Amino acid sequence: MEATPFFIKYTDYFIEIPKGIYELKRLGIIFDFDGTIIESFSNRIESHKKVAKLITDFLKKRGVKANFKTILEIVIKTEAEQEKRLIRNRDEWWKKIFKELNVTNISPDFVTKLTNTYWTILRDTSKVYEGAPELLKELKQKGYKLGLLSDTDFAPGWKENRFKASGLAKFFDTYVVAGETTPEAKPSPQPFLEILKRLNIKPEQAIHVGDSQQTDIKGAKAAGIDAVWIDWQVDPNGNKYGAIVVAKGFPELKATLYKVLGIQN
Ligand SMILES: [Mg+2]
Repeated sequence: MEATPFFIKYTDYFIEIPKGIYELKRLGIIFDFDGTIIESFSNRIESHKKVAKLITDFLKKRGVKANFKTILEIVIKTEAEQEKRLIRNRDEWWKKIFKELNVTNISPDFVTKLTNTYWTILRDTSKVYEGAPELLKELKQKGYKLGLLSDTDFAPGWKENRFKASGLAKFFDTYVVAGETTPEAKPSPQPFLEILKRLNIKPEQAIHVGDSQQTDIKGAKAAGIDAVWIDWQVDPNGNKYGAIVVAKGFPELKATLYKVLGIQN
């Protein structure tokens, strides 16, 4: 096939697929989880509400004046702030909230209960993106090896739990929970190299698909893997770490990925 560069219009800039991309034989595709194949953001308010309710009841029992609405606002604010700082250990979020409220002597069991409640509700309200199972099934039928590479939820076992509950695990040959399976999380190249090893392919034979510049695109690049960025337009810095193509949201992913793979759609 002739190696014709093509252009994808994306807001106000164009990305050219480098010449030669078509000649590369890709054998495996690595997917990120949250924000890439599963929608786990819009219903977080349900987790926030339940956690806020538990904290409010706990404070009242201790004789501390507490208002559910105020606590809920603090929980929401804490998530936004901590996510921005890439602090994803929920236990640390709740400890920060209690510190802010000047409440001391919190038992580790209660902190764990809050974290487990948060993840249980998030797991049960997450939805796979429309078309995700079909896309994974098609890629598998076309002979691609599929790997899931996701960062730890900082509560051991929870990412695996959510992945299995999503119903998507059956499409994957292997999975790596970065920060649990490997000591380091993304964007360290370590978990990327681990999944390549498990898929038995070289970096240039793989494509990584992810929604985070900071973890997916930066990490894939560090491991020598070409990346496809799913841009939900939450990153003001654009394609900072140089994904080879950009798909605006999951709906554009299939067409974008298939062009990179040289598959006639
Ligand atoms: Mg993600």
